[in-house]
Formats: sequence, C-alpha cells, structure tokens
Amino acid sequence: MDLTHNTLDVEQIKLDFPIFSRSILGKPITYLDSAATTQKPKTVIDAVNYFYENFNANVHRGIYKISQEATEAFESARSKIAKFINAESSSEIVFTKNATESINLVTYSWGRKNVFEQDRVVLTELEHHSNLVPWQFLSKENKCELDFIPVNKDGKLSEVHFDNIAKKNTKLLGVTQVSNVLGTINPVKEMVKIAHECDAVSLVDAAQSVPHMPVDVQDIGCDFLVFSGHKTLGPMGVGVLYGKKELLEKMDPFIYGGDMIKSVSKTESKWNDVPWKFEGGTSSVADAIGLGAAIDYLNKIGLDRIRAHEIEVTDYALKELKDVEGVDVYGPKDPNEMGGVISFNLADIHPHDLASILDEEGIAIRAGHHCAMPLMEKLDVSATARVSFYIYNSKSDVDLLIKGLRKAKQVFKL
Ligand code: PMP
Repeated sequence: MDLTHNTLDVEQIKLDFPIFSRSILGKPITYLDSAATTQKPKTVIDAVNYFYENFNANVHRGIYKISQEATEAFESARSKIAKFINAESSSEIVFTKNATESINLVTYSWGRKNVFEQDRVVLTELEHHSNLVPWQFLSKENKCELDFIPVNKDGKLSEVHFDNIAKKNTKLLGVTQVSNVLGTINPVKEMVKIAHECDAVSLVDAAQSVPHMPVDVQDIGCDFLVFSGHKTLGPMGVGVLYGKKELLEKMDPFIYGGDMIKSVSKTESKWNDVPWKFEGGTSSVADAIGLGAAIDYLNKIGLDRIRAHEIEVTDYALKELKDVEGVDVYGPKDPNEMGGVISFNLADIHPHDLASILDEEGIAIRAGHHCAMPLMEKLDVSATARVSFYIYNSKSDVDLLIKGLRKAKQVFKL
C-alpha cells in the first residue's frame, strides 16, 4: 500500500476529540486502548445532544412532528450502517446493545431452533468470550458439540484444520475477523465459503474490523456479522447485527413486547417485519443516531486511509518494541497481516504492574486476559499487556510507550 498519500494528520484529528484537551497529572492522555472502546469525536457527542435537545421522542409510534423527526434520524442511521458494510438492504441491520447482545440474539433466535444433538458449532481459539460463552450455553441447552480451529505458534489460525469446518453436521461457523488479543486478521471469506459448502451458517465477529478497515458483508458472503458502536467512535449502548434477510425472516424474535409486533390479541401476536421484529421495547435511539454520525466521520477520513495509518503505526511499534530487551510480542509480526493490536509481556513484570507504571505517565494500555481466557491458556500466560491504535494515535505515542517501558524496567531494576 502506498502510504505517502494516505497519511493522516493525527494532530488535526485529535482536535476533533474533546477528551484529548484533558491532561492527567499535568500530562496529556496517550490513549492506547481503542480495542476496548474508542474515544468519541465532538460530532458524535453533538449528534446525541442534538437529539435530546431538539427531537427527543419515541420512534415509530408518534404522529407528531418530533417523533417523526426522531424516527427519520433513527432509520437514516440504519441506512448509513447498511451502506457502510455494504448490506443489500437496511432491513438487514438490527440495532442491539452491543456485539455481545448481537451474538446472543443469533444463539437464542437461530441457534436454539437449528442446532441439536449430533450437530456441531465450529469456533476458533481466537474468539473473544462474547463469541464463545453464548455457544457454550447452546451446547449445554441443545447438546450440540463445540469444536475449535486451533491457533498456531505464530498466532494465526491453522489452515490445515479448515477441513474441520466442512463436516456434514456442522451447523455454524463463528469466527472473529480480527483478534482483539493478537490482532490476527483471519481469512473469513475463505472460511465462510468452506462453511457454505456444507450448508452451515456463518457468523463473523467484526468488533475489531468494522471500525478499522473496509468490511463488505456481500464480499465476505457471511450470514451474520456483528459489531459494537462504542468501538466505532460511536456511543456506548448501541450495537449492530447484520443478518441475511431470508434468515432473519425465518427466525423467532429475541425480546418480546412492544414495538416488535404487528398486532396483538389476548392470546396471540403477529410479529413485525424485520428488522423491527428483533427490536422489542424502546431502542437506544440517541445512541444509534450517534453511531450514524460516527460513520459519517469515518467515511470522511476513509477506511482505506485508516487501515494504512494503522499499518504504519503498528509497523513502527513492532520495530521499536523489538529494541526493548525483555519484550516478548505474541502473535503475528507482519503489520499487513494484523489489525492495530499488539499483545506483549515485559520480562516477568506483571502486566497489571506495567499498566500502573504507564498510567503514571498518562499512558492508557490494557492488561489482563482480554476476555479470551482459552487463548491465554494456549499462549501459556495468565495475562498480557495490550496496546491498540486508532486514528488519533501517532508514532510519537509509540515513543512515549517505549519510554514508559524503559522506566518500568528501571523501577523493577531490570
Ligand atoms: N468481540 C471482540 C473481538 C471484541 O474485541 C469485543 C470487545 N472487546 C467483543 C466481541 C464484545 O464487545 P462488546 O463488549 O461491545 O459487546
């Protein structure tokens, strides 16, 4: 990728994010935890405020002006999301609370009716607990088998095991597009194709990809795809489930009550059309509108440029980390094969201690199991330190991180 025309003006971008005008203990915030949640640009905060200040009303039901405006803005956000991931229609976009709820929706509404004893659900060893625990629930409830594509020493999925997907009784393939721990980019298009060869349904966890690189659901060919608004510059409280329309139409609702019905008698109800069939009760309308504003912001910069920027920063970070004696980086080392996420340990300093020392310098990193305990077991560690980059990070943030790591070594007399 030619990076010369793609360079982002990080200092300019930072001005769009009010939080970066804050300092802690006299130091600016160096935020290296966007894989957990991203910071929010002012346009997103303003869009949420604008809703409450100007047309706060419930959607779909109101005949009056502000309710119509709220409905229009809510549905317009849905259309923006559909376009953003190239869904065929906005009726394939269901608003949920977050990626976790989106996966639970699939487990409850699709899984419980389609995966039974003798059937298999194939996952990978790279999955976040969100794409593991709901399937464990299903395997207990419906007695299906769970199987896993193993991860190699280099942090990539073992492609020789992809054959494992293509068994007659495989009903679902669940795979993360980008690992939230190692940054590994998985060949989801190829895996979905294998799943379809045995008529299995596919679910892509795109929580770490949709915000960072162009994602096209029609090109991937997946049946379901999930992501969270709060990792995509949007507000907390809104997530997305993309589902192919013919599948969504066949599925039962997830949450029962108001808004998801067409008609109700004392004993029977008729469900609303998709996607509203899955949106029982009042939705996080302001948050969905905020996510629409986040997508406008991302589109203005361009996902290709964002991806190129993250490759550049990740490349620099990997090189600089190599020069710090005692640093052990887990997973892929080629920035072209990974998202902007790096997990590492520094000698035998516990990642929590490391994070605390960096915090004194105003540097926010993640430390722990990153909601991927089976992967930690595979890596034979109990925890790692993790840095993750986004549009407001630059090489100078990496320099501060490296300085902080050297300070930690001094503290621990290493
Ligand atoms: N999947 C992946 C790959 C993630 O990184 C995360 C969040 N760390 C989730 C799912 C869950 O996201 P949420 O907590 O927003 O539901």
